[in-house]
Amino acid sequence: YDLSPEDLADLVGEPEPLTEEALPVLAIVGRPNVGKSTLVNRIIGKRLAVVEDTPGVTRDRVAYRAEWAGRDFTLLDTGGWEKNVTGIDLSVAQAAEAAIDMADAIVFVVDAMVGATATDEQVVRLLRKADKPVVLAANKVDGPQGELEAAALWNLGLGEPIAVSALHGRGTGDLLDAAMAVLPTEMHEIEVDEDAPRRIALVGRPNVGKSSLLNKLAGTERVVVNELAGTTRDPVDEQVEYGGRTWTLVDTAGIRRRVHMTKGADFYASLRTQTAIERAEVALVLLDASTPLTDQDLRVVQQVVDAGRAMIFVFNKWDLVGEDERFLLERSIEKDMVQHSWVPRVNLSATTGWHTNRLLPALELALSSWDQRISTGRLNSFLGELVAEHPHPVRSGKQPKILFATQAATRPPRFVIFTSGFLDPQYRRFIERRLRENFGFEGTPIQISVRVRE
Ligand code: GDP
Ligand code: GDP
Repeated sequence: YDLSPEDLADLVGEPEPLTEEALPVLAIVGRPNVGKSTLVNRIIGKRLAVVEDTPGVTRDRVAYRAEWAGRDFTLLDTGGWEKNVTGIDLSVAQAAEAAIDMADAIVFVVDAMVGATATDEQVVRLLRKADKPVVLAANKVDGPQGELEAAALWNLGLGEPIAVSALHGRGTGDLLDAAMAVLPTEMHEIEVDEDAPRRIALVGRPNVGKSSLLNKLAGTERVVVNELAGTTRDPVDEQVEYGGRTWTLVDTAGIRRRVHMTKGADFYASLRTQTAIERAEVALVLLDASTPLTDQDLRVVQQVVDAGRAMIFVFNKWDLVGEDERFLLERSIEKDMVQHSWVPRVNLSATTGWHTNRLLPALELALSSWDQRISTGRLNSFLGELVAEHPHPVRSGKQPKILFATQAATRPPRFVIFTSGFLDPQYRRFIERRLRENFGFEGTPIQISVRVRE
């Protein structure tokens, strides 16, 4: 098998120290032949010269560790991605989109001697949409006579075009200075208003005990169980003190509304659930331990997964479960929830208050998983070992290679894996399982997308 951990480490440049923080990612983006690879070589130094003069030759390397003015960053090279593919416009856009997605800042390279083409404009639209810092490189300005052509690129609306010659090195220092000025230093810091209370949704089918639990958590009798109360259609959130901190319970008005049996109530309830989930960071999915799980229960669970929110299973009405039934019930729950073994479970009773204190550690665990970020270095060395131990099976003589991976987002954690071919669904699930075994992620869905570089 030809992909060793060393190969993988190679893909991310020099052997990376296992830092907790991911390095900021600077992507070099542009249509073919504008000089992206030449620029990458200029930045990382000749020792890694990889420019191919023959179109159609692909390279495997996509990311390098680079340094400028004492700052380390990951340089993402899209140079090899778009070659060898028919329908070149589409693939340029795809490669650009993938790179933009991963990047913290982008160097957009345009051939100043050719001027802006329709394909360039296409990339500009992607850049606008992404709303990330962009530095515009007007390449192939080999001498002062090209400055005018470079200035014409002001038209792209991306700010000042920086005239460079990737080939001769002219202006590349200024370009990197400009890139460093917009590349974030504190990497992948999640924008959190640390003071804002975290947002919880209490969801579940009717009669599982949402109002009862809300009552308990709010610690007052404001919420009237089993009576018609709260007539507003607008979501109303409530702040509660629980476990020594303040939390926001979203859409408590929806929980209070106890309109049953009216036409369309189901649809309305499920819409309301959807909205509550989306407005929350973590969902407490209430389930009735005294009755078997229903399809409706599982639909709510799926809604939370699809929305990418942290999740906890709350098996309520545990007081109705006899001592002698508990063991069997636990086993049968485990069986029903085998797909969701990553979700923390709390058995409690909303009416007696038994075990409601156990929600606190579960909430903290699920939210910290939801926030968790694995550095690019740790992720790639983990994947390198995983692939070395369990390579992807060969499919009709081909074996997709994993080239590079990065955690593109948190809340929920989202991973992008760059490969040389499609991964089997089983292999993806295997990666997810191993990610969980290695890094935890209890209580959060994780998303994995695979980008195939053909
Ligand atoms: P990529 O497809 O965007 O990665 O482009 P390459 O880096 O492979 O460059 C395409 C061609 O443009 C190659 O023949 C390079 O030598 C040439 N080239 C790149 N940068 C410059 C430059 O600054 N000046 C000139 N004159 N040619 C360049
Ligand atoms: P909601 O429709 O999900 O808001 O459910 P409610 O909170 O209105 O509860 C529905 C019924 O279940 C009420 O009669 C509650 O008293 C009862 N209930 C809720 N939690 C518990 C519990 O932990 N144990 C028992 N025995 N009954 C409960």
